[in-house]
Amino acid sequence: MKVGFIGLGVMGGPMAANILKGGHSLTVFDLNPASVATLTAAGAKAAASPRDVGAASDIVVTMLPLPSHVEQVYLGPNGVAEGMARGGLVIDMSTIDPQTSKRVGKALRERGIAMVDSPVGKTSEHAVTGTLTLMVGGEPADIARAKPVLDCMGNQTFLCGGLGAGHAMKMTNNLLATTIMCANTEALAIGVKEGLTLELMVEVMKTTMAWNQQLAVAMPKKAFIGDDSPGFMVKLAAKDVRLAVDAAKALGFQALVGEGALATLDRAASLGYAERDTAALMKIREDELGIRVRPQAQPKAA
Ligand code: NAD
Repeated sequence: MKVGFIGLGVMGGPMAANILKGGHSLTVFDLNPASVATLTAAGAKAAASPRDVGAASDIVVTMLPLPSHVEQVYLGPNGVAEGMARGGLVIDMSTIDPQTSKRVGKALRERGIAMVDSPVGKTSEHAVTGTLTLMVGGEPADIARAKPVLDCMGNQTFLCGGLGAGHAMKMTNNLLATTIMCANTEALAIGVKEGLTLELMVEVMKTTMAWNQQLAVAMPKKAFIGDDSPGFMVKLAAKDVRLAVDAAKALGFQALVGEGALATLDRAASLGYAERDTAALMKIREDELGIRVRPQAQPKAA
């Protein structure tokens, strides 16, 4: 199949490489020439614009940072829609909001181009190994056409509904995962400041409704050893929670807990942690209270 790929960053670069490994011909575009060079060295063709990617491809995949990038790459000047033949298919795998996805999909459909959304779960390591979780939305016939390409990138696929449903699933997942992380850091910091040890809190919480995967899996590997190297960056977590808070507003609903998480992430970013792991959320509480939330913590020690 003739596949195009736009957005060859931390995630998109290895995902595109896996499409090549899957035996498809690949045409790529990115604003960063170094990212393009990595893919052309592996056998891809470079295009001069999203329009040229569209013209060269049966299926175009995008993995871009923001909703505005997705809209511009598909519908803007020199966009994919200008180049792609009627009957083409696009797959947007960026983390964006469902409303933008539906709007872009409708405009593409009017030009005879079908769209599927398939944002991804897990990490850049899984992008390399082609073992991402795929949250897919779209018409069943379009998803069936996308499948050979999707299968190059992920090994756990969830069909979520019509176009935009994959983005709704991803946004909901990340809102919950991030708000839980924010709540954990807040509660544990208060506990240590009150004189409790981390060990005691963890043992008690294991037996109550407070227990969660962030406490069980993520925090021991990062926050509890003071490691805020990325990982899942504060700025990306903030982007995802902002998408959910804004989507809630568009639905006529105020996401109060999400707004609290967003304020926490924005504060971490303003303190210089935007490009650090969300483990930095523990650090900002620790610094504010003059404590450390670590195993064998000495409560109330500065
Ligand atoms: P990234 O910043 O590493 O890569 C984005 C790429 O898009 C860059 O190479 C950039 O040059 C390119 N780009 C931006 N605007 C462009 C345009 N107009 N035309 C062409 N290229 C353009 O980001 P990433 O970490 O690869 O993330 C991509 C998406 O995947 C984001 O929406 C992110 O939230 C989501 N995501 C990231 C992770 C992760 O762990 N990094 C995990 C799951 C989902």
